[in-house]
Amino acid sequence: MEIDWKNLGFGYMKTDFNIRCNFSNNSWGELEVHDNEHISLHIAATALHYGQESFEGLKAFKGKDGKVRIFRMHDNALRMLDSSEGTLMAKVPVEIFEEAVLKAVRLNERFVPPYESGASLYIRPVLFGSGPQVGVKPATEYMFIVFVTPVGPYFKGGFQTTPFVIMREYDRSAPLGMGKYKVGGNYAASLVAGKRAAELGYSNIFYLDAKEKRYIDECGAANFFGIKNNTYITPKSASILPSITNKSLMVLAEEIGLNVEVRQVPVEELSTFEEAGACGTAAVISPIERIDDYDNKITYQFSKDGQPGPISSKLYHKLQAIQYGDEPDTHNWITVV
Ligand SMILES: *Cc1c(COP(=O)(O)O)cnc(C)c1O
Repeated sequence: MEIDWKNLGFGYMKTDFNIRCNFSNNSWGELEVHDNEHISLHIAATALHYGQESFEGLKAFKGKDGKVRIFRMHDNALRMLDSSEGTLMAKVPVEIFEEAVLKAVRLNERFVPPYESGASLYIRPVLFGSGPQVGVKPATEYMFIVFVTPVGPYFKGGFQTTPFVIMREYDRSAPLGMGKYKVGGNYAASLVAGKRAAELGYSNIFYLDAKEKRYIDECGAANFFGIKNNTYITPKSASILPSITNKSLMVLAEEIGLNVEVRQVPVEELSTFEEAGACGTAAVISPIERIDDYDNKITYQFSKDGQPGPISSKLYHKLQAIQYGDEPDTHNWITVV
């Protein structure tokens, strides 16, 4: 089967193998290689009834030199450990996580898109309670799976801005809730708001803190940053998912001479930013054209011509250059497969 690398979207495509590891009797088993996309699951698995589940998302890139590079795999392994703290799931040891990811990429190497396509291989580790419970208790058995699927470049027509909307009737997570963990339930909780935003012509909802609705939290399932006075500013909040892309952008921002601030960002401060963006693995940076405050009929405009600002563009290209191996990896972010 020939893959049309130029027209890949962000969807699921079957690849050759997935990697699995099971936890039972208080220990992890051996890594297993499967070519079947389906699993057999107990009808009372805690993942199905009580949402014991977490996942990760990372990417592998083929360089000009033909080498395949995985970006910040170790940080994703650590974040999945954190999600297990929040959901009382068995912890996937870092070594098992990394070995499974490497194996999944190696065995599916023919699905890593060529350098020229601007596409990449998306890697999806997922962990869930597979053992049965009817009372609300954590499972005693868990399944960890890594599958991969090739995905196209996020921006088909080039790096472009999109609009977001603030709607105070929706929250993504509770003030002392699960927002800081990468769990499926947060996504289920965001689907209605996301649909509403899409119907109104926005790329997603821009969330404020659930308690006071005064501070910026996240934009859809991405972190927010704003740029002003030569400073990269990103919100601090107990309900934000710590984005590895955001962490990387903060390092690069300092390197190109910006100040970096991680602090509460009041919603009115949006009017002072020169540039704004959403960041995450899928798009690296999704620059924001404007944010409409739906409830107060205010518009915060960041781009007049649909073009991203100069600093967002610079950060975007710099991070991508490291991921594809065009620039040296001076931070030890890359694992060459
Ligand atoms: C995964 C995720 C992000 C982005 O994190 P990256 O590590 O940069 O991909 C941001 N917000 C939420 C809610 C997420 O689930």
